[in-house]
Amino acid sequence: MIPVRGYEGRRVAVLGLGRSGLATASALEAGGAEPLLWDDSPEARENAEGQGFTCHDLTKSGAWDDVAALIVSPGIPHLYPQPNKVIAAAWEAGVPVDNDIGLFFRSFATQEWNNFDTAPRVIAVTGSNGKSTTAALIHHILQSVGRPAQLAGNIGRGVLDIDPAHDGEVVVLELSSYQTDLARALTPDIAVFTNLSPDHLDRHGGMGGYFAAKRRLFAEGGPDRAVIGVDEAEGQFLAGQMSEGASDDRVIRVSVDRKLTGPGWAVFARKGFLSEYRKGRQVGSVDLRAIRGLPGSHNHQNACCAYAALRTLGLAPKVIAQGLESFEGLPHRSQIVAEADGVTYVNDSKATNVDSAAKALQAFDRIRWIAGGLGKDGGLGGLLPHLSVVEKAYLIGHSARDFALELGETPHEVCETMAVAVARAAEDAQEGETVLLAPAAASFDQYPNFEKRGEDFMAEVARVLKK
Ligand code: ADP
Repeated sequence: MIPVRGYEGRRVAVLGLGRSGLATASALEAGGAEPLLWDDSPEARENAEGQGFTCHDLTKSGAWDDVAALIVSPGIPHLYPQPNKVIAAAWEAGVPVDNDIGLFFRSFATQEWNNFDTAPRVIAVTGSNGKSTTAALIHHILQSVGRPAQLAGNIGRGVLDIDPAHDGEVVVLELSSYQTDLARALTPDIAVFTNLSPDHLDRHGGMGGYFAAKRRLFAEGGPDRAVIGVDEAEGQFLAGQMSEGASDDRVIRVSVDRKLTGPGWAVFARKGFLSEYRKGRQVGSVDLRAIRGLPGSHNHQNACCAYAALRTLGLAPKVIAQGLESFEGLPHRSQIVAEADGVTYVNDSKATNVDSAAKALQAFDRIRWIAGGLGKDGGLGGLLPHLSVVEKAYLIGHSARDFALELGETPHEVCETMAVAVARAAEDAQEGETVLLAPAAASFDQYPNFEKRGEDFMAEVARVLKK
């Protein structure tokens, strides 16, 4: 645990009592603060009390007397569609609002570091898609070379749950836009921006607010190095803003669209080959084509981002290449779950938005595509140009009928449930084809989360293949 510093002997309110909220409360206590816990849900309060915490009603008048700060969990809206009432009350009372990420950055460095040979570093990864994969990949490669490393944030442990740093340790954080929007301190040594596409727009009041939230990771703390995917205008803008000129190598530009061979520092992937250029010369390359854990150009983008971040720590290209090769991929992201009769079954349940589903469709050919769930604003929109590889779509969930209308000429069938979709797709699949779950929709209409949806897909695949 990282004890929270700066609030000794003071009262700090904590809103949201899920995993990160309770970890925050413990870390506040460890640092000598008095946490005041609250959650709008009675079940969450009961659970916290069952774990020995005391709840304080933050909705009552007078609740904010002598409160030094309010710490908010990422699932709670602080601005759009409308601010949670407790947050609005804290503002009204003039109480600063922060989150566990802000507390982490204030509390992580300690006096002990003076005796270390190599100061610990923090690599923070943000972007619309590929955050988890990139963060896990960086962590995996560091572990594979024996460098002390911890993975936290949106993946792995809560940030305040990690162990105090060892000499030379690297902490890899995955940070969502909700987290970067609210944190009052954001000071990673290396910041990574994978890409940007529309998502969570209701929580950010549109695309501008969404990008602004992610941009704070770069603008607030001034990282030593910024790894930036420049395949969208926002990435280009950010890279331009962070650098003093074309040869400024504090910025490493990443692309899977084009070669970047200018005077700066760049990592790009073309046709499955990763290249690193510095000052106009190639200084490293990796063949990504046969890496089973990283299929498709979207994963090549993640590989480029991870490679670039690790190069800033001084790892050699060959060493990084070995680490990339042994990465097995994360569950529910382009995960090959079975192969039978020449048909490959792929679970990409995490493809909850149109962009990630489009990337999954580009990573395979001849696809039996299982899609649908709780659709997002804009429907299938950006996916429509990628349908030529789809042999047939098998539609499930709330959006099944809407998706059917949008699919037009592309063969499709409304299946409603995963069980029917998997059975029908497996029945139709020919040798050389891929049955792909890439829903382009959230899971909450039929499942508690995308993991459960992916597990259901795997269970249905196993059932069908047993017959
Ligand atoms: P995040 O943590 O940003 O949600 P994940 O690594 O969990 O990212 O991947 C989320 C979804 O996006 C998965 O469906 C995955 O296959 C897809 N994906 C992974 N990397 C990328 C990328 N660089 N660009 C677009 N889609 C991606």
